[in-house]
Amino acid sequence: MTQSLTILGSTGSIGGSTLDVVARHPERFRIFALSGHSQTAKLAEQCIAFRPQYAVTANEAQAAELRAQLAAASCHTKVLHGEQALCDIAAAPETDGVMAAIVGAAGLPPTLAAAHAGKTIYLANKETLVVSGSLFMQTAAQSGARILPVDSEHNAIYQVLPPEKGYLKHNGVQSIILTASGGPFLHTDLADFPAITPEQAVKHPNWQMGRKISVDSATMMNKGLELIEAHWLFNCPPDKLETVIHPQSVVHSMVRYADGSVLAQMGTPDMRTPIAYCLGLPERIASGVPPLDFTALSALTFETPDYRRFPCLELAYQAMQAGGGVPCVLNAANEIAVAAFLAGRIRFTDIARTVRHCLEQDFSGSHHSLEGLLDLDAAARRAAEAFVQQVAHR
Ligand code: NAD
Ligand code: MG
Repeated sequence: MTQSLTILGSTGSIGGSTLDVVARHPERFRIFALSGHSQTAKLAEQCIAFRPQYAVTANEAQAAELRAQLAAASCHTKVLHGEQALCDIAAAPETDGVMAAIVGAAGLPPTLAAAHAGKTIYLANKETLVVSGSLFMQTAAQSGARILPVDSEHNAIYQVLPPEKGYLKHNGVQSIILTASGGPFLHTDLADFPAITPEQAVKHPNWQMGRKISVDSATMMNKGLELIEAHWLFNCPPDKLETVIHPQSVVHSMVRYADGSVLAQMGTPDMRTPIAYCLGLPERIASGVPPLDFTALSALTFETPDYRRFPCLELAYQAMQAGGGVPCVLNAANEIAVAAFLAGRIRFTDIARTVRHCLEQDFSGSHHSLEGLLDLDAAARRAAEAFVQQVAHR
């Protein structure tokens, strides 16, 4: 039976990798809907190649532009725009699976809509779990939505956890070990950190990713967000989560068992592997990823992360332990700070300062509803933006 898919954020890095895997298996998958926020020409190309029923853009002007491009190619995809349309394509009865690959908290409403509708959710948008972990997991449990982790670490963990994943202790799991590459500045002199440029920060040594997650990898906020993601996905207490730096990104993560066994998942660092794993389940399907060549690897090394080098990791760990609405504040502040850094407004080292400043404020807003979380997110963004304006160096 062919599976009908909605890809939220199809014009991004994960979206493109997903379509690459889908194109290898035309008999298995059919695209129901695609969405893109800014690259209308790319979205048009994807519509022409995959012929979805719907495509969603950010606004009316882009929708008009896309309609014109599709008409010229005799492509009958219907074009919608805006957040409600994203929620509609995520929850539509015609779709079976939803790839959640929008970046940032913007992905939350449609991903939550897919959870309400009981879809199979291929979750790349880790911010959904950081911002609304409790609400999202509860919603999925109530509707019967299935969540399959696309993030490479969580996908690795999912592959090596025992099949009964409810409560880790009863399965003999001692801890979960998230591996981290350490990003491009693992060995950079700390004195040089303030001068790091956006171009240097987005140049990840092992992975090709969108700009926001690339900066998150350079600050290791990405690993912090992933700790919170693992906490919710695997119902794992914070003190059972370990982080280890593994610069080669070959071991994608590990699970430590009570008998001393450690199970790891390995592979060439390419997101098409976890994507194909999720889409193919329970079967293993081809992903186009080159096989891992062990003889070409010089060494696999591991080291402890240093919080002086990566203060964002510590801030995220604290936010996870605090719980409630604190991870939502962490995420919002980080999104504002990373955008300001990428725009050349603040220094690399100001990212952690902005996040720390926001974590020290008191914000009202309930984390039990989407509306409450969106209020909290907005308040934290305002505080972060005010701080950015104070420290902006040009
Ligand atoms: P990207 O920047 O390459 O793509 C983001 C996508 O989201 C694009 O299609 C863009 O048009 C869309 N988008 C951006 N802002 C939007 C908004 N406000 N509303 C609606 N759509 C919007 O990002 P990416 O690297 O593909 O990452 C996507 C998600 O997957 C992120 O949450 C990231 O943390 C996660 N992830 C990515 C990778 C990776 O290798 N790229 C790995 C693990 C997890
Ligand atoms: Mg990851």
